[in-house]
Order: sequence, then C-alpha cells, then structure tokens
Amino acid sequence: MSKSHDLFVKAQDAIPGGVNSPVRAFKGVGGDPVFMKRAKGAYMYDADDKAYVDYIGSWGPMVLGHNHPEVVAEVHAAVDRGMSFGAPTEIEIQAAEMVRKLVPSMEQVRMVSSGTEATMSAIRLARGFTGRDTIVKFEGCYHGHGDSLLVKAGSGLLTLGTPSSPGVPADLAKHTLTLDYNNLEQAQQMFAEKGSQIACLILEPVAGNMNCIPPVPGFLEGLRKLCDESGTVLIFDEVMTGFRVALGGAQAYYGITPDLSTFGKVIGGGMPVGAFGGKREIMNYIAPLGPVYQAGTLSGNPVAMSAGLKTMQLISQPGFYEALTETTAKLVAGLQQKADEAGIPFFSRSIGGMFGLFFTDQGPVDNFEQITNCDTERFGKFFHLMLEQGIYLAPSAYEAGFVSAAHTDEEIQKTLNAAEKAFSQL
Ligand code: PMP
Repeated sequence: MSKSHDLFVKAQDAIPGGVNSPVRAFKGVGGDPVFMKRAKGAYMYDADDKAYVDYIGSWGPMVLGHNHPEVVAEVHAAVDRGMSFGAPTEIEIQAAEMVRKLVPSMEQVRMVSSGTEATMSAIRLARGFTGRDTIVKFEGCYHGHGDSLLVKAGSGLLTLGTPSSPGVPADLAKHTLTLDYNNLEQAQQMFAEKGSQIACLILEPVAGNMNCIPPVPGFLEGLRKLCDESGTVLIFDEVMTGFRVALGGAQAYYGITPDLSTFGKVIGGGMPVGAFGGKREIMNYIAPLGPVYQAGTLSGNPVAMSAGLKTMQLISQPGFYEALTETTAKLVAGLQQKADEAGIPFFSRSIGGMFGLFFTDQGPVDNFEQITNCDTERFGKFFHLMLEQGIYLAPSAYEAGFVSAAHTDEEIQKTLNAAEKAFSQL
C-alpha cells in the first residue's frame, strides 16, 4: 500500500474527510487523494516520492511554478525580520502600490488573508455603500464560503452536489438572487424589475469554478451598463482570473472596469493573501475611514506580503503572459488533437494561463446547463489514467486547470504522451 493511502486513513480520523478543503478529497473523481510532500517548478512529489506534472498549482497561486528561488529568498528574509507585528509595515504599502499599478481600477486596496474574506468584505461594503440588501450572483460561480455567497455555487459545492449549503439561514439566503451565466437578457429583465434594490452584482469575469467558461461577447459590457443605470456596485471576483488570464486580470483582458474587485491566489504567491479594492469613493466607507467594519489579525502579514510582492514583480517582466498564454494554448491544442485522433468527443479551451477540458460532443460550453451535461464519469476515468502516469489535473470536471511559467515543452510533451495513452483507454 502507498504512503498516501496510510496517511489518508490516518487523516480521516483527525480531520473531517481527511482534508482541510473539500475539493482535495477526490470526491468528484473517486479514489483516494494523493498526499504531497514537496514541490519544485512544474512538479509536485507525493509521499512515496512519485513526481507529477502539476496542473493545479495550488489551485492557482503558483503561476511562477513551485518554490521560485527569488520568492523563497524574500520569504526567508521576511521571516528573519519577524513573522507578524499587528502594526503597519512598509511592505504593505509596496504591495498595495504594486496592485494599483497592475490593476488601475484599484484606487485603494485592503489586504486580507483569503479569497473568501475578500468577497465577503466586498459585498458587505457594497451593501453599506448603497444601503441596499439584495445581491446578485450567477449559478455555478464560486466566491468563497461567505454565507450570502453559498447559493447555487460552483466549485466543491457543484462537485459534491450541494450547490446551496445548509447552515445558511433562509432569511439571509433570500437576499441573494441568482442568474444564468452568459444570459444577458435574463439579467436585463431582473434589473428592470429590481435594479433599484440591488446592492451589487458579483461575478467571475471568466468562470473558473464550473470548469472554464469565458463571458460571451457583450455580456460583461451589458452587465456594466445595467449596474451603471441602477446604481449597483459591479464586483469582479478576480480571485482566480487576477494575474492569471492577463497581468491586469480579466478586466484588462476584456477592457471592462468594475467598481470593486477581489483578488486571491496569485496575489499571495502561495501564502494566504486576498485583497479587495476599487473606487476610492466606495473604499472610503470601510473602517477606520468609514462605518463598514472589516478587520484581520494577520491581514497584510509581512511574510505573506513578501511572497506576494516578489511574485507580482516577477510576473510583470515583459513577455511573461505572452509565454504563459502560448504554453497553455499549446497544451490545450495538443490535448484536443489527441482526443480527436482517438475519436473521443472532447472540447478544450484556454485563456492566458487558465484552461478547461470538457468531455462533450456539444462543442463550446458556454453556460451552466451545458457544463452539467458533460460526461463527468469519463472525466474521472481520464483523470485517473493521467494521474497514474504522473500528470496531476484538478480532481473534478468542474474546475479549471492552471499552467505555470515553469512548464516547458518537455512537460507539455510528457502530458500529451500520457493523454494519448489515456484517450486510447477510455
Ligand atoms: N473566488 C473565486 C473566484 C475563487 O476561485 C475562490 C477559490 N477557489 C474564492 C473566491 C475563495 O478563495 P479562498 O479559497 O482563498 O477563500
């Protein structure tokens, strides 16, 4: 038996389901999760020292590849100066200024410790700013596990088949309205009826928690217009897309400016960091400047800031996103070719360093209904055939995949060779 198996047996006694975050448990693909011991560049190594080409990158943060030496050096130096002060530090200003430079809509930035905190705080702020209670989200989008956002959510909730979580009071959930992603007409109808009551509309500008679904042309523009007309705060949740689809996030890629944005993952370079920010006029409402309360003992933690700042500096180098986009496109085109050759109905796409794999004969998958019609069982088989060959994909048909700057032609070729074999065995 593998060490991973032994660890999983032990873990399940001490930790619910043996994991500290549900999607790690392989519930969407069956079988036991693999326990990891270390990682470097494009590879992770499991408890038995087996190497895997890693396509989740800690679910997004590791855009430089694992343990980039310059990031590690910054973290070591920061640890030597002190782990946490609970008082302001200069590196927090540097990190905030860096975010503002890369994402110009972020006139002011507040750092937090996770994507969940960022979205939860952003919607509270939007409610406080507008004096309205209702929020609107899209079915299949995941914005962390804040109560108001666990309604028809994607990611682990979709994988586990409980899109709206018990434990969220009905009295609170009733303030969250949901719409179909990429259906502008439906949004227009809702705003015509209720626009003046809606505090904010929050969305993933590229949905990455129901596989990978980009906005159809005109969708983001239309939502921007609806929010402008109704005084609704438009929030782009760029926890996944930020510094991933382009240096300036999806808002730069599509040229649409939200009122508030949330970030996570890459912004911390592998350390626990999230951020929310945007228009100064709205950010003025946050404590201690304004009345909307939000706080954090470890917010802006100096060690976490050092990893995030160095990561943001490295990804700002000229050509970084061109290369990342090209590698990811090469992977996706190669997988499509292998599937076509094997006669497997399959569709794949990429945007920047993010990609989606769909076992479907429908062609492009653009909405929630289409994604739930994909063959998840076949995905599970493909996942395990790849895993056996040392290729680590996201363990769910409803999650996007990620490529890093450490992935070279060698890793892509290894992946395509494995895929050829896997497709032939499906
Ligand atoms: N928003 C989006 C778009 C996400 O993808 C995630 C996490 N996958 C979150 C929010 C929540 O972030 P965290 O897990 O850091 O709380």
